Amino acid sequence: MIDTVSIIIPVYNEIENLDALLERVVSTCEALRNPWEVILVDDGSRDGSTERLEAAARVYGGHLRAIVLNRNYGQHAAIICGFSHARGDIVITLDADLQNPPEEIPRLVEKIEEGNDVVGTIRRNRQDSFFRRKASACINWMVRKSTGVGMTDYGCMLRAYRRPVVNAILQCRERSTFIPVLANSFAKRATEIEVAHAERAAGESKYSLWKLVNLQFDLLTSMTTTPLRLLSWAGVAIALGGFGFGLLLLAGRFLFGTEWAENGVFTLFAVLFIFVGAQFIGMGLLGEYLGRVYHDVRGRPRYFIDRIEGDSGLERSMPEPRPDGVVIETGISL
Ligand code: UDP
Ligand code: MG
Repeated sequence: MIDTVSIIIPVYNEIENLDALLERVVSTCEALRNPWEVILVDDGSRDGSTERLEAAARVYGGHLRAIVLNRNYGQHAAIICGFSHARGDIVITLDADLQNPPEEIPRLVEKIEEGNDVVGTIRRNRQDSFFRRKASACINWMVRKSTGVGMTDYGCMLRAYRRPVVNAILQCRERSTFIPVLANSFAKRATEIEVAHAERAAGESKYSLWKLVNLQFDLLTSMTTTPLRLLSWAGVAIALGGFGFGLLLLAGRFLFGTEWAENGVFTLFAVLFIFVGAQFIGMGLLGEYLGRVYHDVRGRPRYFIDRIEGDSGLERSMPEPRPDGVVIETGISL
C-alpha cells in the first residue's frame, strides 16, 4: 500500500514568499507517486498572508487546506495544530520562507519508506549569519549532552515523521514543546540526511535574539531536568568549598593570631556573596520549573482556530489520535 503524505507549513507574515512556495511545493508533490495534501497553518499573520492562503486553498482544492489561527502562537504551536489536522501516514514539516527547498520532499519520503520513523535534516552550507550558526552549534551540542537525544541539527524544520510518532507527539500535553527533540525521543529508528539550505527568499527572520534565547531555554527545561541536577552538584561543590575555607580561616587564626582572622572579615563577605548568588540561581531555576508546572496544570489550549478553508481528499489510514483536548475550534477572532 502506498503511504499518504501530509506537508505542514507554518506561515507567519510570509506574503512575499507564498506564491513561490505554493508553486514549488505543489509541483514537487505532483511528481510524487503518493497521494498528498498540504496544510498551511496561518499563525496570526497581519500582512495579507491569511487571505492569500485562503484563496490558494480554493484554487488547489482537494489538496490544500488553510487553517487560520486567531493570533500568533509561535511556530511550534502552529505545527502541532497542523499535526492534529494531518491525515497522511507520513507527515513532513517545512518552513514557509523557502530556506528549506521543497524539492527535498521526495528524498524525505523515500527515507521514511525505507523504514525510519523520523528523518531529520542537516543543513549543507548553511545560509545564516555567522552569529546564528555559532549559536546553533553551541545549542545543538548542549541539547545532545543534556537530553541524550543524538541529532546533529535540531534547528532545521524540514523533517519527516511517521504517523505513530505524530500521534505520540499529539498525546503530549505540555505547553512548551520542541518538536524535533520530542519526536526523536519517540522514534525507534531515526536518521538524518543532508539537504541544501538557501537564504531566506524574502522578508525577515521571525526570530529575534530574545525569542531565540527563550526558545532554547524552553528546549532545555522542557526536555530535561539536568539543570536542576547540576544545581545540586553546584550546591555541593560550593558547600564543600565553604567548609574548606572555614577550616583555613580557623587554621590561620591559630597560626597568625586574631589579627589575621579579623582582616579576613572581607573574605567572609566574598564567600557570603557566592552563596547568595548560588541561592538566587537556584531559586530562579526552581521558579522556572514551577512556572512550567503551573502552565501545564492550568491546561489552557495551545491555540485557537479561527477558521479552516479547503479540504483534501486524503483519509486517515490509522485511527484518529485521542481527541486533542487543547484544540478548541471557535469562530471567535479576537
Ligand atoms: N513562524 C510561525 N510563527 C512564528 C514565527 C515563525 O509560524 O511566530 C514560521 C515562519 O513563517 C516560517 C517558520 O516558522 O515559516 C520559520 O521562521 P523563520 O524563517 O523566521 O525562522 P528562522 O529560519 O530564522 O529560524
Ligand atoms: Mg527561516
